[in-house]
Amino acid sequence: MQLIAGNWKMNGSVALAEAIATPLAAAADGLACELLVCPPATVLAWTAQLLHGSKVMVGGQNCHAKASGPHTGDVSAPMLKDAGAAWVILGHSERRADHGESDAVVRAKAAAATAAGLQAIICVGETEAQRLAGQAEAVVAAQLEGSLPDGFAGVVAYEPVWAIGTGRTASEADVAAMHAHVRAVLVRLLGEGGAGMRILYGGSVKASNAASLMAVANVGGALVGGASLDAADFLAIARAAG
Ligand code: PEP
Repeated sequence: MQLIAGNWKMNGSVALAEAIATPLAAAADGLACELLVCPPATVLAWTAQLLHGSKVMVGGQNCHAKASGPHTGDVSAPMLKDAGAAWVILGHSERRADHGESDAVVRAKAAAATAAGLQAIICVGETEAQRLAGQAEAVVAAQLEGSLPDGFAGVVAYEPVWAIGTGRTASEADVAAMHAHVRAVLVRLLGEGGAGMRILYGGSVKASNAASLMAVANVGGALVGGASLDAADFLAIARAAG
């Protein structure tokens, strides 16, 4: 079953959470995929309450590698869990760029998430300059090698940086090639666990391109940014998934 995950990024209010969660909860039973929303920390608990009893899952967008302590402004994995999250997105390219998150930091956060009972979605992806230089596969392999804890059992999201929030989507051929590459690296790193791991595609997924992207081999779902802020758009993507 594919996973369609919505990353609200630094968007969302109590009112928006309600506007998105209510129709998702009503529609989730009829979907062939799993649905996940990742609101900002301020409305995570509220969103989890709204979705309680529905099939829609809730996740955070980041967590600290420590469980608690003197880290002003940060949120830990056990705190996300306590607020109602079952998932957390880690290593998103915006966090890697805005906060200098290295592979080692992402790896420590993923271990903390697992210890807290959260499922982690670890994001990887090359910049446009790296792709143009023919380095895309090597960059993604290095990110996977550095970011995944030993025995990692979560989800990986391939998100080419140049396709995030730009309206540009990787071609089906590029997605097929990169997801096959990610699969091979996961099998090398994790054996059997890597063979069955879901690999999400992210980067300007919308209702009009979701069906063709979700049909590509080794695509286990989507990580959706902009289009996840509108319930109708997000549900249209979910209906294209299986
Ligand atoms: C993302 O935030 O992970 C993302 C893929 O954003 P968008 O769908 O807006 O490109």
